Amino acid sequence: MTLTTSIMKTKEGLYTCLRCGYKSPYHSTAARHYRTKHEFLPKMRCPVCGKIALNQYSLAQHTRRDHNLKLSDLKKAASTESAQPAAKKIKKE
Ligand SMILES: [Zn+2]
Ligand SMILES: [Zn+2]
Repeated sequence: MTLTTSIMKTKEGLYTCLRCGYKSPYHSTAARHYRTKHEFLPKMRCPVCGKIALNQYSLAQHTRRDHNLKLSDLKKAASTESAQPAAKKIKKE
């Protein structure tokens, strides 16, 4: 993560995105702006229809709008699925 070099605090006390000039009085808002607008995260794919989203934010919007599902719910389902190794039977008798 190189957020500190991508966001600069100006004299006016505003956090400025060095990539596009976006300004926010809050560092958290500027950091989120940078992450969602400029940090390309690969594999942002809708688990329902396979649509590729630019970032997690737009993917969350898509799943909510088009599938009426929360992205966090989908992730939970996906992680529990992969976290449980199938056919691993440990029997202690
Ligand atoms: Zn920006
Ligand atoms: Zn979808």
